[in-house]
Amino acid sequence: MISVEEALNRILAGIGGPMPAEEVPLTAGLGRILAEDVTARLTQPPVAVSAMDGYAVRAVDVATVPARLTVIGMAPAGRPFNGSIGPGQTVRIFTGAAVPDGADAVVIQEDTEAAGNTVTVREGAPAGRFIRPAGLDFRAGSVGLTAGKRLTSRDIGLAAAMNRPWLRLRRRPRVAILSTGDELVNPGESPQAGQIVSSNAFGLAAFVTAEGGEPLMLGISPDDPQQLLQSIEAAAGADLLVTSGGASVGEHDLIANALGAAGMELDFWKIAMRPGKPLLFGRLGRMPVLGLPGNPVSSLVCAIVFLRPALAAMLGQKAGGSSETTARLGRDLPENDRRQDYLRSELTVDQNGLVATPFERQDSAMLSLLVRAGCLVIRPPHAAAARAGEAVQILRLDGLV
Ligand code: AMP
Ligand code: MG
Repeated sequence: MISVEEALNRILAGIGGPMPAEEVPLTAGLGRILAEDVTARLTQPPVAVSAMDGYAVRAVDVATVPARLTVIGMAPAGRPFNGSIGPGQTVRIFTGAAVPDGADAVVIQEDTEAAGNTVTVREGAPAGRFIRPAGLDFRAGSVGLTAGKRLTSRDIGLAAAMNRPWLRLRRRPRVAILSTGDELVNPGESPQAGQIVSSNAFGLAAFVTAEGGEPLMLGISPDDPQQLLQSIEAAAGADLLVTSGGASVGEHDLIANALGAAGMELDFWKIAMRPGKPLLFGRLGRMPVLGLPGNPVSSLVCAIVFLRPALAAMLGQKAGGSSETTARLGRDLPENDRRQDYLRSELTVDQNGLVATPFERQDSAMLSLLVRAGCLVIRPPHAAAARAGEAVQILRLDGLV
């Protein structure tokens, strides 16, 4: 049995480089990962513009107020005034309009009184007042968004402003998901005696989508070598195959053999982790294969610990955004054995910060407890008994989709 850390290192080493880039329209970019920096194709604003509705003036002309100025034209947004403002002159201006030559300040209309083609300015304005200089937001060629970033709606807005209607994004990794087990039926079917509803594939597919991948549901294969082989072959073309179940050593746990028969080169099988001991990793040709345990909690916890960083690496993301932090224990814990524990725990906040209280029962078949958990308390192998109040490492679940 290898450690969690070694297993993760071997998965990341075996997963290969990031996905190729593809051109995607801006409207389809939300949540996707940038394959390259986004630079501005223009300067914004392109010229100095007014930040207010009012009058473009020479600051010297309104140094003493009231000041009477002659209105020589108008500058609405999008229709610049082409002349130049001389002493004693002004141009009616609107928000976003180019500031005419000669003007160096804008007086807001609330501080003025218009009469015919003259205007009386009642409040002065120092040079630069209510003017957005050219390039205030960004300059042509400047980097607005960096490669590896997951795009938010704000990022999409900035890319649009930078005049980038297409973005180079990482192709979504295609993740084939196969459930194995004679006892499984799909949600919506009526389980007969001895059968249970398959939940893993649905949780995993949602997880893959949330983490930026594209799930491909291969369905359920019974525990039969021939049918397993067929299902594995259906994964051809995927960037990653994820299986669940059949990975312990029972007579009906056949996934390692079936993958072997299909030509998989096994990297490791079994890790010092609870839940998740029968984790398997290998390569089938160019396609990495991650064999998750069948127990629903084990499969989803292993997805968080291993599949998440694997997908982040496939997407060329820098750190993958670890959700690990520390909290104080809400109750005593006994010493740990040689497996690294991930204890489903309630996460609360008191006056001193985060408190993680592991649930009494940690049965890896209990999905409801995983849903109630705000975090997983991480207990390293051979950790000594711990008292309530001690600091422990936790993996927050509240930030995960
Ligand atoms: P296995 O690794 O095949 O021995 O499965 C371990 C446990 O997880 C068994 O109780 C299975 O019934 C259960 N299990 C396996 N696959 C799934 C699945 N897709 N959904 C829900 N439970 C599963
Ligand atoms: Mg099974």
